[in-house]
Amino acid sequence: MPFAYYDRLTAKRKRIYDRSDAIVELPLPAGQDTAPVISAIAAGLDADRETEVQRACQQLLDDLAARFSVPPLRVKVYATRPSGDWGELHGMYLPEDEGKRAVVELWMRTARKEKVVAPRTFLRTLLHELCHHLDYEFYKLPETFHTEGFYKRESHLLHQLAGPPEPKKVQASGASSPRTNTGTRGARAQSSS
Ligand SMILES: [Zn+2]
Repeated sequence: MPFAYYDRLTAKRKRIYDRSDAIVELPLPAGQDTAPVISAIAAGLDADRETEVQRACQQLLDDLAARFSVPPLRVKVYATRPSGDWGELHGMYLPEDEGKRAVVELWMRTARKEKVVAPRTFLRTLLHELCHHLDYEFYKLPETFHTEGFYKRESHLLHQLAGPPEPKKVQASGASSPRTNTGTRGARAQSSS
């Protein structure tokens, strides 16, 4: 079942949505052990050091981009999430633009209580933004949509890198997805929040 906004899409965009929705797995190509770099991200969050978190995130994204044979991304880590009456922003993906590298922006602290984000949540946001990049560069989709398939790929990747979810935490469907924004790519692309 597609999300509600599907009905408002043009036939052409529906076809892109359908392609995205149909891909529900994202097998991680083999490579070096990612446990140390994921620990480094968690340690940087624990110490509340943006530069350490950023360095470790960059290392992880460089590794993952190489494995998927897609252009590298640049990551920027900031302190407190931007917020408004719409909620708070966890992450942002800005696609490659006129030869400039695609950028992932991440925030370390919640807007409401300025608490450091839990490592698994932070990693999920990082992978969410990577999934937008993979939509363009790996699957060659003209646009990146939040579809059920998109969220399944995000979770699949998270589970391969950080293990399955803890069993006691029951989450409402869809509630586990981070709130993120996607920038536009070229003049044709639409942004999807
Ligand atoms: Zn998104």
